[in-house]
Amino acid sequence: MKYNFSAGPAILPKEVFSEAAQAVTDYDNTGLSLLELSHRGPEFTAILDEAVRLPLELLGLSEDDYQCLFLTGGASSQFFMTAMNLLNENYHGYYIDTGTWSTKAIKEAKLFGKIEVLASSKEDNYKSIPKKYASSKSSGYLHYTSNNTIFGTQYQSLPDHGALDLICDMSSDIFSRPLPGKNYGIIYAGAQKNLGPAGTTLVIIKKSLLKQINSGLTSMLDYKIHAAKNSSFNTPPVFPIYVSLLTMRWIKNNGGVEAMAKRNQQKAEAIYQEIERNNLFDGFAAKEDRSYMNATFTIKQKDLEEQFLEDCANAGVVGIKGHRSVGGFRASIYNAMDIQGINKLVEVMKAFESKHS
Ligand SMILES: *Cc1c(COP(=O)(O)O)cnc(C)c1O
Repeated sequence: MKYNFSAGPAILPKEVFSEAAQAVTDYDNTGLSLLELSHRGPEFTAILDEAVRLPLELLGLSEDDYQCLFLTGGASSQFFMTAMNLLNENYHGYYIDTGTWSTKAIKEAKLFGKIEVLASSKEDNYKSIPKKYASSKSSGYLHYTSNNTIFGTQYQSLPDHGALDLICDMSSDIFSRPLPGKNYGIIYAGAQKNLGPAGTTLVIIKKSLLKQINSGLTSMLDYKIHAAKNSSFNTPPVFPIYVSLLTMRWIKNNGGVEAMAKRNQQKAEAIYQEIERNNLFDGFAAKEDRSYMNATFTIKQKDLEEQFLEDCANAGVVGIKGHRSVGGFRASIYNAMDIQGINKLVEVMKAFESKHS
C-alpha cells in the first residue's frame, strides 16, 4: 500500500483510475478505446459537454456569466495568455507575488504590457500572504495564486481587489472548497494537482471579458476562438479531459466542494497538530496562512532529514520530500487523499520522534 503525497502529478481517486483504465481498453462498450475515438464524434462530444458544465455546477457559477475551456500548455501558458488577451491601455494588470508561481506569472505578463506588483511576501521567504497594499485601482485585473503549492500558504478569503476583476491561478486548490467570493474574471488550473492527469488546463472565463479580448492574436492563444469552438478549435486533449470529468463526477457524488472542504480541513488539521506537537519538526508557513492542500515542514536536526524520508518510504509514504526552494518536507493532501493516508504519516512522525529523542 502506497500513500502518495506528491505535489503533482498527484493522487486521484482510486475509482477514477479504474474507470479511466477501462475507458482506455473499451470505452462505454463501444468496442473502441477512448483514445481512438474522434474528438468530433458523439461519445467525446458528450464527455466535453459535461466536462465544461460540471466546473460551473461544482463552484456555483452561472452558465449565463461564465464559460469553461480545456486548453493545453499547462497553467504556465495562462501566465502569458491572460495578459496577452486582456491587457490594453485602459485595462491594467496588477499582481500579488506570493511565491514561485506568481513570480513566473509576473515575468510572463511583463512581455505584454505595463503591469504593477501591488504586494510581495518575498522578504519573508514567502512564508505568509501579504495583506496590506493599496487596491483602489479602477480598471483591470488583480492576479493572485490562491494556493502556493511550493511554500504551503493559501488565501483563506478573497484578496483585497477594489473594482478589479480577479484572475486566480487555482492550480493546486481548485474544487478543494467552495469559492470564497464571486468577483472572478478568470480562474485557471493545470489539471495535474487536484483534477486529472497532466496535459490539460481548465480555464473558467467570465463571458463579459470575452468581449474585450485583444485583436490580432494567433488563433491558438486567443480565448475568443477557443470559446467560440468549445475548446475544439484543434484536437483537444481527450484523455486528460475525460479523466478530469471522472474526478469532477467523483467530487459531485461525494458531496461536492462543501464536503471536500470539510474533509480537507480535518486532514490538514491532523497534520498541523502533529507538526506542532512533535519536538523534531517545525511548520514552515505562518499559521494564519497555512495551506489545506500542501503542508510544508522542516526538521530541526538537518542530519535526520534523509532518515525520515527513509522511514516514510518504508511505511509506503511517498512524495514527501519538500521542493528544493523550501527544503524539508511537503505533504500534498489533495481531495483524493483520505484520512488513512494522513494517519499513516502522523504515525511515522510519532515513531520517528520516539526513536530520536
Ligand atoms: C504546478 C503549478 C503551476 C504550473 O503548472 P503547469 O501545468 O506545469 O504549467 C502553476 N501554478 C501553480 C499554483 C501550480 O501549483
